Amino acid sequence: MQTLQGIAVSPGVAIGEALVVDNEGFRIPRRFVMRDVVDDEVERLNKALDFVATEIARDRDAVAAQLGSDYGAIFAAHLQMLRDRRMNEELTSLIRERHHSPEYAVRTVLRRYAKIFQELRDDYLAERANDIFDLERRLLRCLLGERREELAHITSPVVVLAHNLTPSETAMLDPEFVLGFITEIGGAGGHTAIVAKGLEIPAVVGTGSFLRDVSGGELTIVDGDLGRVILQPDEETIARYRREVEEHRSLAVRLQSLRELPAETLDGTRVTLSANIEFPREVDACLDRGADGVGLYRTEFLYLAVNSEPTEDEHYDAYRQVLMAMGDRPVVFRTLDLGADKLGRLPTHEEERNPFLGLRSIRLSLKNLPQFRTQLRAILRASVLGSARIMFPLISSMQELRHAKMVVADTMEDLEEAGVDFDREIQIGMMVEVPATVVMLDKFLPEVDFISIGTNDLIQYALAVDRSNNEVADRYRASDPAVLRLLDMSLTAARQAEIPASVCGQMSGEATYTMLLLGLGLRALSVPPAGIPEIKKICRSVSVSQCVEVAKRALAMESPGEIETYLREELRKVVPELVLC
Ligand code: PEP
Ligand code: MG
Repeated sequence: MQTLQGIAVSPGVAIGEALVVDNEGFRIPRRFVMRDVVDDEVERLNKALDFVATEIARDRDAVAAQLGSDYGAIFAAHLQMLRDRRMNEELTSLIRERHHSPEYAVRTVLRRYAKIFQELRDDYLAERANDIFDLERRLLRCLLGERREELAHITSPVVVLAHNLTPSETAMLDPEFVLGFITEIGGAGGHTAIVAKGLEIPAVVGTGSFLRDVSGGELTIVDGDLGRVILQPDEETIARYRREVEEHRSLAVRLQSLRELPAETLDGTRVTLSANIEFPREVDACLDRGADGVGLYRTEFLYLAVNSEPTEDEHYDAYRQVLMAMGDRPVVFRTLDLGADKLGRLPTHEEERNPFLGLRSIRLSLKNLPQFRTQLRAILRASVLGSARIMFPLISSMQELRHAKMVVADTMEDLEEAGVDFDREIQIGMMVEVPATVVMLDKFLPEVDFISIGTNDLIQYALAVDRSNNEVADRYRASDPAVLRLLDMSLTAARQAEIPASVCGQMSGEATYTMLLLGLGLRALSVPPAGIPEIKKICRSVSVSQCVEVAKRALAMESPGEIETYLREELRKVVPELVLC
């Protein structure tokens, strides 16, 4: 049994067989082969060994011709390893005697050899482990036909283990079969985490490297509540976690009974609980959880579903589906927030050194006006089908806000001229995600109908901590006193200007912060659909006056740890079942 600690990014517990997806996207799913095809499988292995030997010899000759025979000798060592009699016998016997697939045998044997080298306290020999990994990759590439198995095609229940999963790869996972996932890198605020929550797949990221020790097929537990991963758990641990899965299930059933009830505090204050979505199909989960609307529709995820730039009609179709399903409940269309860790750059765009500080989000939209207008036309056309709102992400200056609004006005004019119907009174809001915007908020507020505070970005920009980097994940904390003050300043400014404000960053979906946010005056939260019942339960268990006291005390504290502990204790007093150890 091996336990790893990572960052909990999507709650819940998953127990299942490990499916390793390595850097090149290889999956080694087939552990066993049928008895009657063993000869064929050995033959397949031998062919792969021959093919890779020819490949290496070719590389050796090419490098030797260019750089001299000393360099070519590196490959000679690879060839020698590949032809090692003992290794070949071990591979063959795993197939013949244990009926392992050649892919599985290659991974198991070569990783064991690499580990032996790594553990030798000699830098030169430890380096040889990399040569073995190189051989392993070559063999797998050959055996698997160089085909990057699509993550989308997983069809048996597994826990996915990967070095990294991009937000788009995560979006391909089918929650029916992917019980959970673990990645070696990644941070709590990254979009991979957000997609995992949307799909309701328990996930832990940023565990550090461990993949070299696993071959796939091992029983694995993902504890998405505490950020723990357990490889090859013992019986007692399995039994404990199975009980936990049951408890999760029964808590979810109990909370589901609140579905038809309003999110109203004990002293009668109504809180609006909306949902964050990335894909139209999530409206079912919104309705199922009794969402008051869609408070944040991350429209850029449409780029994952289509291979090229989405057309106006593709945008329109997606928006239509959401509006129609939500009826008269408001749907906030956040305009494209591309760039940084998500997709989409200008075709001519070069790699950015600091993409989170670069051409992302509204900056990218304002630089690529045809793309922006296409989206706005689609939103406006769809606006007659329900209660649509437009929201601009990452606004950091007044000029930017005015420019974006002007593009909306121009687009409206075009539609008007073309005789296309749209909602002329559509509300326009902005996200508050940049500390400079918080400081200047009183100037922005008269120019918008609503604001939504994006704490995911606000935290990273306020604390200078990359939201998706596990190296600094311990510094990325919603409970930082500076974050609390920025929230307080924003909500106070909005209240004074009588402009509705909500919070749609992940913080609003975390039970720990609900009392604080209500105490700071927040009356609208937008959270992943799965988080709605839990937050509603808290709203219905507290009074506003109690929350005001909590917020006051938290604001006076100095350290994130102290604030977090305090908030958890206060929550424990009112809804103990929601506080995990
Ligand atoms: C945020 O930054 O808090 C937010 C909601 O937007 P995103 O996570 O998509 O950047
Ligand atoms: Mg953001």
